[in-house]
Amino acid sequence: MQKGKINVTSENIFPIIKKFLYSDHEIFLREIISNAVDATQKLKTLASVGEFKGELGDLTIRIQLDKKNKTLTISDSGVGMSEEEIEKYINQIAFSGAEDFLAKYKDKTEAIIGHFGLGFYSSFMVSDKVEIITRSHREDAQSVKWSCDGSPEFSIEDAKREGRGTDIVLHINKDSEEFLDEHRIDEMLKKYCRFLPIPIAFGTEKEWKDGKEVDTGKDKIVNDTNPLWTRKPADLKDEDYEKFYRDLYPASQDPLFNIHLNVDYPFNLTGILYFPKIKSNFDIQKNKIQLYCNQVYVTDSVEGIVPEFLTLLHGVIDSPDIPLNVSRSYLQSDSNVKKISSHITKKVADRLHEIFKENREQFEKKWDDLKLFITFGMITDDKFYERAEKFAMFKNTDGKYFTFEEYEKLIKENQTDKNKTLIYLYTTDTEEQYSYIDQAKNKGYDVLVMNGQLDPHLINSLESKLKDSRFVRVDSDVIDKLIVKEDKKEIDLPYEAQTELRNVFEGATNGSSQYWVQFEDMGETAAPVVITRSEFVRRMKDMAAMSGTAGFYGDMPETVNLVVNVSHPLVKTVIDQKDKSLNDKIAEFKSQLEPLSTKLDELKKATEKKKDEEISQAEKDEMDDLNKKVEEVNASKAEVLKSFGKDNKLVKQLIDLALLANNMLKGEELSKFVKRSVELIKP
Ligand code: ADP
Ligand code: MG
Repeated sequence: MQKGKINVTSENIFPIIKKFLYSDHEIFLREIISNAVDATQKLKTLASVGEFKGELGDLTIRIQLDKKNKTLTISDSGVGMSEEEIEKYINQIAFSGAEDFLAKYKDKTEAIIGHFGLGFYSSFMVSDKVEIITRSHREDAQSVKWSCDGSPEFSIEDAKREGRGTDIVLHINKDSEEFLDEHRIDEMLKKYCRFLPIPIAFGTEKEWKDGKEVDTGKDKIVNDTNPLWTRKPADLKDEDYEKFYRDLYPASQDPLFNIHLNVDYPFNLTGILYFPKIKSNFDIQKNKIQLYCNQVYVTDSVEGIVPEFLTLLHGVIDSPDIPLNVSRSYLQSDSNVKKISSHITKKVADRLHEIFKENREQFEKKWDDLKLFITFGMITDDKFYERAEKFAMFKNTDGKYFTFEEYEKLIKENQTDKNKTLIYLYTTDTEEQYSYIDQAKNKGYDVLVMNGQLDPHLINSLESKLKDSRFVRVDSDVIDKLIVKEDKKEIDLPYEAQTELRNVFEGATNGSSQYWVQFEDMGETAAPVVITRSEFVRRMKDMAAMSGTAGFYGDMPETVNLVVNVSHPLVKTVIDQKDKSLNDKIAEFKSQLEPLSTKLDELKKATEKKKDEEISQAEKDEMDDLNKKVEEVNASKAEVLKSFGKDNKLVKQLIDLALLANNMLKGEELSKFVKRSVELIKP
């Protein structure tokens, strides 16, 4: 027997392993098994080039659990190792020094193990002692046994092994006894080894016979050595892809489409991506793509490797070219990763475009499920936008779908305003905004449904990308002003009469600052009062709400415009009623105001030509006094008008009807409205 010291610069590698790999102990199994796979594949390669002339035989890798002796053994029939090879590959640990290692990869170590020749040593995370019993594939090779108990010392001696290959015997330590449990091993095998290219046997196949479970004595193979993504797309049917999806995500609904990735230049990448059905709450859907490296499972966190919106996809990506030995933040700047990421983006867009071209009907059917994903891509990734713009769909209130280009053509003629801006009308709620949609349609306009979670963002992007275009929600203005075709004539109501009417309506809204009273001439047949919401203010509020910041717009109460149609007969009636019942009072205010304004005019004339310092204090005081009086008279007049409005059933009714049309009449106000309506109907 020979003894030696494991060659690392730092005293002892084991504390490092234990300290840094603490959180992820279970990966030891992946490391030991992938070594067995590597050794087996090396042998196959040697055989294929004629360097190994013996029988390959059964290449199954076997995992054996011995609970009594507390060992876990992984055996392969691969190339095996000679004593010299053990010296070279096991004893001389393949990195410059533990100190460097420590300094460099302080933050993230989980992914680096396999890439720094540390793979084998990860077994010491869970073992008191590790033995290697191995025999090289070379003719007349001598079997050897290497043994190490976790100190930097090892022993090596001759051993007996039947055929070529390697057994790694792990003497599981006290803290790691979970790894002596079959179910735990099963679970780990399923996670890491499910698609390894060499058959792996663990336990035996059981069978139900006469109501009892019996051992068949046959190896239970835990992996699929030929996973779908490694096969030729031409040999596969839709059902194969669907079945694979169900295997991967048993609880999910069927996917919408799949993409088979297969690249060998300038990097190596295979995989299958699936479009899941996602309607909302897409955050929970993330981390469904599994990343493999030559069929060895690495992680299901692909952030940094694919653009964020693609993390909504499901499936597998397998690439030996993704550097796993670096931190995630570094990944994003790695040029290979960038290429891979943009390649996947391109493939995804191409595939969608292809489906769109091949079967538009199908595509439209699936659009509602795809929309969130595509929108997410379009607003976060300009490259994707450029591609998606050809197949992204607008959906209008009739449930028809249009490409951006088609839609522009559709509305160009009728929805271009006097400034040559193309106005895209949209609704966020076809029920609540029904009356506005209806009016827009009657005017020959088309209305888009933009009720998606990300649509506000999409609208912002579209406005910055589409030339001379603006998005306007149908309820943001009265119909004639949604798309202003020509300068409108002034409304036919003198300024003073407008002020009076404003006071009347303000009185009826109980002076609530929620409503801005405005006047429009909308024609006799339009509604007497309409409620609109400023597009700008509403968007600012929406954005504030979405980003969770209150701020100026967030804190603002929801203000709406109460637009009074001055040409409506009922509004004219209100004006008549006001004139009739307040004529005397208004005349009185007028007579109070007249002398005041005459005096003011005189004073103004007298002081007009004077410089400020030439105006006497007496004159100034008189002016202030007059102004104050005018204000007082106006205020009293407004009070009278407001109190008239407050008690006027017709005004109340008109406002309530407008509110009702917007689903804004609630509680006490609603019940008052109902009562008032009954009274008004009374013959
Ligand atoms: P890596 O796999 O990255 O080379 P490891 O620490 O996992 O690093 O393994 C070190 C080396 O030990 C391998 O490169 C290989 O030469 C040798 N080795 C490990 N396990 C086996 C095995 N089962 N059969 C043959 N050689 C092995
Ligand atoms: Mg390895």
